Order: sequence, then structure tokens, then C-alpha cells
Amino acid sequence: MTRPLSGEPALIAALARSFGSPPLDVMVGIGDDCAVLDPNGADCLLWTMDTLVEGVHFDLSYISLFQLGRKALTVNLSDIAAMGGEPLYALFSLGWPPARDTAGALALGKGLAQVARDYGTVVIGGDTVASPQGLMLTVAVMGRVPRGEMVPRSGARPGDRLYVTGLLGESAAGLEILKRGLHVDPLLKQALVTAHLEPQPQLQAGRLLARERLATALIDISDGVATDLAHICRASGVGARLDAALVPISFRVWQVAGMLDRNPLDLVLKGGEDYHLLFTSPNEKGEELFLAFARTGLDPPHLLGEIVPGEGVVLSSPKGDTEITGAGYNHFRFDQEYALNFA
Ligand SMILES: [Mg+2]
Repeated sequence: MTRPLSGEPALIAALARSFGSPPLDVMVGIGDDCAVLDPNGADCLLWTMDTLVEGVHFDLSYISLFQLGRKALTVNLSDIAAMGGEPLYALFSLGWPPARDTAGALALGKGLAQVARDYGTVVIGGDTVASPQGLMLTVAVMGRVPRGEMVPRSGARPGDRLYVTGLLGESAAGLEILKRGLHVDPLLKQALVTAHLEPQPQLQAGRLLARERLATALIDISDGVATDLAHICRASGVGARLDAALVPISFRVWQVAGMLDRNPLDLVLKGGEDYHLLFTSPNEKGEELFLAFARTGLDPPHLLGEIVPGEGVVLSSPKGDTEITGAGYNHFRFDQEYALNFA
């Protein structure tokens, strides 16, 4: 009997089974931020694709089409950063509601073009199609990483330290402000809303970690630390201990969490789309790591915890240890809730 798919991981696993094993020149297939191909040259090729769907990933009442174009390319560049690579070329596919003014499509294209220019990528083609059920934008990016420098999700070892390249929960707090129309200080609002609508791909940090071999495992934070760290743990066959006291949370996120009567850690662990890099690094490389970031002019990474033997992600706080594996956002669970609410 065919059982129903319970969520995205199950769907991906089922699809991967039907595709079978990849050929030998595919170094990394399904299950990382990018597919990695070996063309037998100095570089390995990276290939990634992401889709943004109206009503699931964005709401055009608060994101402009220009910002949407920016974000669609940014989330792909973030996946290239998460392998330690640099981007080369981008393709896109745009599902456009016929009722919308095509000037809007041009604004979206300008957003794509701006991010491409800023990060050394070239948009080399695409496809447009009428979409009666809302706007949809898929972007695919090809990149490269020098042979031997690629950082997969699977290299974390017990004893490694766990770091993140920036503050967490800013994007989730910005989304709450937009969704609920919270009245907050304009400067605070601007910082958080910008974090959500105009995230920055951490390409420089990703290259630095790869080039100087400072990371053993690397992923970008798209679905929230709880989910993305669980991906590293599963791929590496290890567990992780997050120290609640070390999690970098700004006063801005504290303030929004207070207005929502929520624990700020909740926004940080379950709220995604920070697009910072989450990585593990051997304990003995700590000094080298901070010196390398300082030398490059990057903000220092934040220590979050450590990799431990076993499995799963645990949050340690003075109240004790809590298992948080799988607490992140799940598009498919969301879809089901949405369907139930409107049945
Ligand atoms: Mg990713």
C-alpha cells in the first residue's frame, strides 16, 4: 500500500529513490545545498535551484517585485556560499499572472540584475509563462569551487565548534512586523524588515572558510537553525549541543518577541531566512578562524555550541537540555495546515 507523504523530507527521499544512483562524475547529489559535479578540471561545478511561490514564500502586499527579484537570486547565491563556492551564471523561470502589468516583471528583472551585478553573476537566460494562480519565480545558479576546497554538510566531527556568521532571528522578526503590522520604532522596523526582504548572500565568508580550510561542515540558514543544524547532524552522523546563552540575538529581536509574547529563541530556532552561514570548525582552529575573519574585514563569527557524538540537536540552558531537532519551518506541513484551514 502506498502511504501518503508526510512532509518535504519524505518527498525528497521518495524522489531520490526513483532517480537512482548518480554517475561517478557527480561528487554530491541530492541532499546538500548544491549538486557538485567533477568535470576533471581545476574546479568543481556547483548547481542549485530554488523556487519562490506567492502565498507560500512571499506576499506582494509587503514585498516589492524588485525586492522579490533580488531575493530569488540571493537565496540561490546563498546555497553557492554554503558550499564555499563562487557563482558564475544564473537562469530563471517566471510564472506571471496575465492580469498583472508587465512593467512589474521588468522591475523583478531589475532586482535580479542588481544582485547579479553585485555578486559577479550573469543572468544568461530564462523562460516566462502565464500563471493563472499567482506569481512563481524559479532561479537556478551554476558556480564553481576549486577542487579540494568544497565544504559539504557531512564533515562535522564530535568536538568541532559550531558557529554562525551573523545575528539570528532578524528576518523572522521582520516577517512578524510585516504580517501583523506591528507598530515599532521606525529604525528598528527598517533593520528587521530589510533583513527579511533584502538578505545578503554570505559569499565572502563561504569562500574564506573553504579557501583556508577552516570549516568541516557548512550550510546556509534558510529554514531556521533547528532544521538546518539537524541537516548537518544527519549528513555527518553526529549530534549537536546549542548553548542558549551563546545564541546571538539583538535587542531588536528581543523587543519584537516581547510584543508577541514569545521567547526570542523561538524566533531564532524556528524562524528561517537569515541566510547566514552555519558551520563547524575544529576547536584548535579557533584562533586562526577569528584572525582570518578579521583580516578579511568580515564581522567575527558567533560561537553557538559544539558537535557531540550521537544524533539530534539539543538546546542547553540553565533550565536543562531540550531536544529541538526538526522544529524548523516545514513548507509541506504549512501547506497542509493551510489546506485544512480553508477546506
Ligand atoms: Mg541551503
